[in-house]
Amino acid sequence: MTELAAGQPPKTGCRRCLLAEIAGSEDIVAAVGRARELIPKSDLCPDELYKKRLSVCRECDNLDSATCLRCGCYVEIRALRLGAKCPAGKKKW
Ligand code: SF4
Repeated sequence: MTELAAGQPPKTGCRRCLLAEIAGSEDIVAAVGRARELIPKSDLCPDELYKKRLSVCRECDNLDSATCLRCGCYVEIRALRLGAKCPAGKKKW
């Protein structure tokens, strides 16, 4: 068993990958699509802003295998709602 450095998140798969790039996550990717369909259009984040949010997540140290370590959400789902906020103390989006 590998010991973790104090205060460091565990090292897992690809830290910078989103669900669409992780092999075996097809079911979750489909769930993202279903979640998108269930959100009223007026509450849905516009595509350009959605892409911008995900690009910020990709550069964030809190991203690990498509999951935000601050809230436990898949960022591709969290970013779907226009009113959603990044959970980091100093909000990134
Ligand atoms: S803290 Fe914010 S920017 Fe970082 S991964 Fe989570 S939602 Fe994305």
